[in-house]
Amino acid sequence: MNDGKPMLQAALTRLADAGKLLDVSPEVLDVLGQPRETTQARLTIRMDDGARRSFTAWRSRYDDSRGPTKGGVRYDLGACADEVETLAFWMTLKCAVVNLPYGGGKGAIRVDPKGLSANELERLTRAYTRAFARVIGPDRDIPGPDLGTNATIMGWMADEYSDLVGHRAPGVATGKPVPLGGSLGREDATARGGFYLLQHLASELSVARDARVAIHGIGNVGMHMARFLSEAGYRIVAVSDSRQGLFHPDGLDLAAVQRAKAKDGLASLIGVAGISGCKASEVVLADCDILVPAAVENVIRADNVDGVRAKLILELANGPVAPEADERLAQRGVTVLPDILANSGGVTVSYFEWVQNRQGVAWTLSEIHTRLRKMMEEEGAAVFALAREMRITPRRAAYVHALKRLAAAIEATGARRHNR
Ligand code: NAD
Repeated sequence: MNDGKPMLQAALTRLADAGKLLDVSPEVLDVLGQPRETTQARLTIRMDDGARRSFTAWRSRYDDSRGPTKGGVRYDLGACADEVETLAFWMTLKCAVVNLPYGGGKGAIRVDPKGLSANELERLTRAYTRAFARVIGPDRDIPGPDLGTNATIMGWMADEYSDLVGHRAPGVATGKPVPLGGSLGREDATARGGFYLLQHLASELSVARDARVAIHGIGNVGMHMARFLSEAGYRIVAVSDSRQGLFHPDGLDLAAVQRAKAKDGLASLIGVAGISGCKASEVVLADCDILVPAAVENVIRADNVDGVRAKLILELANGPVAPEADERLAQRGVTVLPDILANSGGVTVSYFEWVQNRQGVAWTLSEIHTRLRKMMEEEGAAVFALAREMRITPRRAAYVHALKRLAAAIEATGARRHNR
């Protein structure tokens, strides 16, 4: 089972661990032990110069016991089936951890989106939607944005799907532009959710108001988080994108970082006002109190875990800490706010968007923020209560919390149905 899928196999060790702690039936673990369906397609589009080019793409629906599958689509050169299925598995746990009525899914195209023009990206997105039109749907599987995708892309996806089914179907994708049925507050929701969680647990975790933070990956999620933290008084001492890391022991000027990122690149700030440069990968080892991985998977592994200096890791990326490094961090007293809880703000506001689309209503920004805060605080508190009660790490507690809900749904389903 899952041969040739090292990433999924590694991810499943955490589920097996939670299964032992909870004593769930082997049938439940068997259902969750592999994806329900993964579809691969070859997308062929016409490039701007008239040439034809093909791209490999996937959509995986991991488990739908708790509702339609939900998860982002990633445009990335490193995408592969194993990664898509692992991300879909994490989505299954994430939706259960915050009690959204969803299962988990994920999709990807192996492409460097920066190498394509806007017209090529639109053709590719429409080709993806057509190729997976029978897999996705507002009641079946709902894509959203992820690494390398954004609101514009989600808008194209919903538009193409609406054409295919012959009526407007905004609920097929989330993270759309607001004029196309997107929700207010989706853009910064992942970071905001993580920020609400951190603020709620700050005194319990003895987080100082001016704690020093390193952010690995200042893309959509990382940059918003940097802004929230800096506005609240935290000092952002290190940041990186995929090419460059920057460090300043007293804190970086975020506005200057934003300008450099948009214009000449982060490297242009090296040497300015005491800023030093480092490799992007070295930012996870920066001298700081809180580390926020917000880029890609497996940046903290057995080979570098002992170099991590932060006492608290807030996982906004999916899977930034490899399972092999969990034990070592726990032994060293490093607290990890796990991805399936800490970055669930994005899918939570995606769920709000889907609800608004289906009801034909539009919530105000303050309604969205209030509902998001409530969800993050309640589920965060429940996970921490479980961690205390069972004397386990927050990650294990989050898995146990999610698995309880998944097991209840799987057991209540009875005989499995296979035609949906
Ligand atoms: P993004 O593409 O906007 O930003 C990614 C950032 O990481 C960029 O700064 C990029 O330069 C950097 N990066 C990319 N590859 C890297 C590498 N190999 N090493 C170091 N840095 C690298 O993506 P995003 O939407 O901000 O997502 C970031 C992470 O958060 C991903 O792991 C994603 O799965 C996760 N996430 C995103 C959302 C969301 O709502 N967008 C929700 C939940 C989780």
